[in-house]
Amino acid sequence: MVCIQCGHETSVANSRHQKRSNQVWRRRKCQNCGCIFSTTETTNYSGSWRVLGNNGRLHPFSRDKLFISIYESLQHRRGAIHEADGLVTTVISKLSPHVKNGVIKSGDVVTVTQVALNRFDNVGSTHYQAFHGS
Ligand SMILES: [Zn+2]
Repeated sequence: MVCIQCGHETSVANSRHQKRSNQVWRRRKCQNCGCIFSTTETTNYSGSWRVLGNNGRLHPFSRDKLFISIYESLQHRRGAIHEADGLVTTVISKLSPHVKNGVIKSGDVVTVTQVALNRFDNVGSTHYQAFHGS
């Protein structure tokens, strides 16, 4: 990665693996101007997971779609955006064991999301079930 100020080469000054979200955070320093900035390496789930719908069709897993479904269920809460983002991370980490050959059943996504929401907010869980439950 090049410097965001001058475009010169940078080196990694520090890095941390965030196990829960499976992300790597790095602090970079420019060798030319000394500018310091950080980057996050994150898994591109939509490029690697596919969801098997009830109709037998496969479509790419979308973190955004999952986020929206959770966010919509939490709209009665003031911190919905922030909380939904945290819940998406939790749900994705719990989905991993259900993925077989890169494919996950849409029913598993709904069940895992439902369980996470249930622990977090009862009203949100009810909202979610009304829209996505079978
Ligand atoms: Zn620089």
